[in-house]
Amino acid sequence: MLKGKTAVITGGTRGIGKAIARKFAENGANVAVIATSDSEGARETVRDLQNLGVNARLYTCDVRDAQMVDSVKEEILADFEKVDILVNNAGVTRDNLLAGLSIIDIDDVIDINLKGTIFMTRAFIREFVKNRGGNVINISSVVGLMGNKGQANYAASKAGVVGLTKSVAKEYGRKNIRCNAIAPGYIETDMTRKLSDEKKGEIAGAIPMTKLGKPEDVANTALFLASDLSGYITGEIIKVDGGMYV
Ligand code: NDP
Repeated sequence: MLKGKTAVITGGTRGIGKAIARKFAENGANVAVIATSDSEGARETVRDLQNLGVNARLYTCDVRDAQMVDSVKEEILADFEKVDILVNNAGVTRDNLLAGLSIIDIDDVIDINLKGTIFMTRAFIREFVKNRGGNVINISSVVGLMGNKGQANYAASKAGVVGLTKSVAKEYGRKNIRCNAIAPGYIETDMTRKLSDEKKGEIAGAIPMTKLGKPEDVANTALFLASDLSGYITGEIIKVDGGMYV
């Protein structure tokens, strides 16, 4: 479905990003995977992708740093002929009730989840304009649509990603560039692994489908958005949440 395409995926060596990288590679895409460090785990993930017969490479970048983002873009463009798809997946939580949030908790979440997504998109959009086409997929969250107690910083960052997504869709639709977002509900990854079993049970009980989602559930939607099957869809936010926010 993505044969001959190249995708850049931030946070592509763990959790949802890793599932997206694998799904894309299984469907023929070359993948440039960005992680914060060149760890053995990250290298192993990339080797697994290469074993699927595609060109896969690991890059390190802190998406908070606009200069690093611009230079990793140059590195990627030097290694791959052309980039077709950008998946802004990197994200963190620093949860607390609003009054208890430290400045660092606020800065980290806004800088990585929102500013990082803006920096990456800004860097690659020029390339997409030059190529007369491109596809941006942002990973937001249902929390960005509905708000959540204890996640004011995170919800604000993810709501910002929704505004960014719609604006990019409006600005660049005429240039054959699509921009959509996925809003996952609770997905089983390192991010949610820290929740107690009791809390997970409580969350599952509030979801119509009575279970947490899997990274593959998000990856399948990312594949749809990356492919021509969604060719006339832009500016859309697709929830993958088992009905959590209906
Ligand atoms: P994980 O905690 O498993 O992975 C987070 C990823 O983000 C890691 O790959 C990490 O890289 C990367 N990352 C963190 N900080 C930076 C940074 N400064 N620069 C570059 N990369 C960074 O999270 P998930 O897989 O669960 O989450 C992926 C996305 O999905 C996030 O945006 C999250 O907000 C969103 N989401 C997740 C939900 C869930 O329930 N899990 C629900 C809704 C949305 P490294 O491996 O190098 O540390």
